[in-house]
Amino acid sequence: MPVNKKNYTEIKSYTEANNCTLVAVSKIKPAEDISEMYTLGQRDFGENYVQELMEKQTSLPASINWHFIGHLQSNKVKYIAPFVHLIHGVDSEKLLKEINKQAQKNDRVVNCLLQVHIAKEETKFGLDENELEELILKIKEENYPGVNVEGLMGMASFSDDTEIIKKEFRFLNDLYEKCKSQLPTFKHLSMGMSGDYKVAISEGSNMIRVGSLLFGARN
Ligand SMILES: *Cc1c(COP(=O)(O)O)cnc(C)c1O
Repeated sequence: MPVNKKNYTEIKSYTEANNCTLVAVSKIKPAEDISEMYTLGQRDFGENYVQELMEKQTSLPASINWHFIGHLQSNKVKYIAPFVHLIHGVDSEKLLKEINKQAQKNDRVVNCLLQVHIAKEETKFGLDENELEELILKIKEENYPGVNVEGLMGMASFSDDTEIIKKEFRFLNDLYEKCKSQLPTFKHLSMGMSGDYKVAISEGSNMIRVGSLLFGARN
């Protein structure tokens, strides 16, 4: 299915007007769809699966900023460490340490976001408030040279109730501001997807991850 150019133009200008970065989530979609959006000027793309990301990275332009937005297993970090632009889903010290190690092996500093669990659903990954606090302390102590922790990422509940979503985003924004006062590297708050990106931006998001509105529904 071709890229939805009308939605792309709309969302792109909306994000630009709000100083927000648009990450086009291309998971499960073919490389041709990414190429098409690349010719429209898009450079930031998000993927959820390591194998799929590796295949796309080798066949597409080197100037693409690849965002890893899925759940990352420590044993797979080595495959994306050479080229990944930003890892959104860091939710343990173990994973952060492995990214630090693999980044240094590649003479790189890898940008990361800490994932916070803000939704009601049990199934979603992420740190709770206390775990986040502990991890921030560790980062300040250890000063991992291979990672640059740039902010937070979160996903709101699957809900039609805007008030619930708004509350969850507001909570994440409060945490973001708190952490930012402790870590000067903080600059990204990644929250908002196809269904809730406007609410997210109104609650302080400066990076949204949008898939289905741009590439069509995934099966
Ligand atoms: C798939 C996915 C998205 C995009 O979802 P859409 O509803 O298609 O916009 C955003 N963030 C994460 C973490 C995802 O897994």
